[in-house]
Amino acid sequence: MTFESLGLHASIIKALTDAGYTKPTTVQEQAIPAAIAGRDLLVSSQTGSGKTAAFMLPALNRFAAAAASAPAQGKTPNQQTQAARAKGERPRFRPAQPKMLVLTPTRELALQVTTATEKYGSGMRNIKAVSILGGMPYPKQMQLLARNPEILVATPGRLIDHMESGKIDFSELEVLVLDEADRMLDMGFIDDIERIIAKTPATRQTMLFSATLDGMVGNMARRITTDPMVIQIAGSASKHENIQQRVHFVDDLSHKNRLLDQLLRDVSIDQAVVFTATKRDADTIADRLNIAGFAAAALHGDMHQGARNRTLDSLRRGQVKVLVATDVAARGIDVPAITHVFNYDLPKFPEDYVHRIGRTGRAGRNGLAISLVNHSEAMHVKRIERFTKQVIPVDVVEGFEPKKTASASRPSRPNGWRPGDSRSRPPAKPGQRTFSKPGAPRKEGSGNGGTGNTGGGYKGNRASDARRG
Ligand code: AMP
Repeated sequence: MTFESLGLHASIIKALTDAGYTKPTTVQEQAIPAAIAGRDLLVSSQTGSGKTAAFMLPALNRFAAAAASAPAQGKTPNQQTQAARAKGERPRFRPAQPKMLVLTPTRELALQVTTATEKYGSGMRNIKAVSILGGMPYPKQMQLLARNPEILVATPGRLIDHMESGKIDFSELEVLVLDEADRMLDMGFIDDIERIIAKTPATRQTMLFSATLDGMVGNMARRITTDPMVIQIAGSASKHENIQQRVHFVDDLSHKNRLLDQLLRDVSIDQAVVFTATKRDADTIADRLNIAGFAAAALHGDMHQGARNRTLDSLRRGQVKVLVATDVAARGIDVPAITHVFNYDLPKFPEDYVHRIGRTGRAGRNGLAISLVNHSEAMHVKRIERFTKQVIPVDVVEGFEPKKTASASRPSRPNGWRPGDSRSRPPAKPGQRTFSKPGAPRKEGSGNGGTGNTGGGYKGNRASDARRG
């Protein structure tokens, strides 16, 4: 199938060709024709599947078609203000009236969607997309809204502020997208989302994208859509078949830190993301890695938006080799050179595991995701395996074997060595490639309650974290 056969406008096809896209992804093939036909959509697909284009291309197509049939445009609020001033009149305040709203759980994802929109709409004049995000200064956001953008990409919290102070009027809204809806609900945004939707016309087209359409998401989806087409993508992107996964068992915190340092010396690493459960750990580990000679930086919700953007730019430019991040901050990062993801702490929710490992293996490349797991967290690994329907092989690095006995961490070793074996092993040399071959599938069984568990899970308030950043 080609983009032409999906019925997209010539200017959009040209932008896609310029972006190097040769054919639609599975989710795009299924979603775009239905969305162009005006259907509401409920789409279960993962990040990395090409979902942004799946909702943005049909929306841009709608605006291109409308512009072709009614090319005359009114003045923007900015132009109206200038015209009023020129006539010596007091300018009248007018709220922005977007035609499309995309709600995302985090600022990073919102910025990524806005960037993708600019790319896909590069051949369309008169289409402006702006991000409205927590952490951005209000005067700057007022300037952006004064341009009366057709497309708003926003996190729910800050959008509510502008909506309730009358800066945005959704009465002209034609398209509403909820991107990563399951994450927004996990983060406690349900009330904000419902309040925003209540201000939009019932005639709007609604497209909801989510890793799952079950539970709370399914309930909300049924309330806010009309006769939706349901699209479930269970392709390789959602199973992350291009990403190898490993578990390394550790005895305690010191073992975990030494093992991480060693694994980061793998010469096949181009760039890596290390996920931690807490912001404090992200800072501490980034500092420690810098001292150890890695070009590392932290990314978490307590950082100002400017600092977060600078860190992400350095990551994209390859200046930061190791990003140490919390879940909230890392959602939506799309940097193809990320070859490795490390779970320093396991995520609290199995869905977050899927999002985390999806930071690698982008744009058709391969990736490796390694989880450093305390023996007492073996059941947590099982939960992740049940969710992903994949067994994660256990691996061991020579010289860094766990000493504690844990039935769940018993890899098959060619030389007969077992965790708990008292024979000491020589430490691996720095820089030496130490990955052993992928281990045999992990056996059933829980750990023995080893020590040194750093908490392994997100404990903050997701919604307030996302608002604060
Ligand atoms: P998304 O799931 O929207 O975050 O997209 C994941 C990555 O795939 C992004 O880097 C996109 O630029 C890229 N992408 C999306 N659609 C296509 C396509 N049809 N061909 C090639 N790359 C694509």
